[in-house]
Amino acid sequence: MSKAHRGKGIAGTYNRGRGTCPVCKKDGVKVLYEQEINGEKVKICKVCKASIKNGKTA
Ligand SMILES: [Zn+2]
Repeated sequence: MSKAHRGKGIAGTYNRGRGTCPVCKKDGVKVLYEQEINGEKVKICKVCKASIKNGKTA
């Protein structure tokens, strides 16, 4: 397993992977996780990714 969402893995991404999460509206978080919401692919933060996976959101 590589650390795709840490360190050098995100250095080349937009704003180093940081931005505003479209789900929880938090800014300055790392939005690195692709998730399909309402048929649209969006990048969300780790927390939201986990809660969606657990069936808590969306
Ligand atoms: Zn979020």
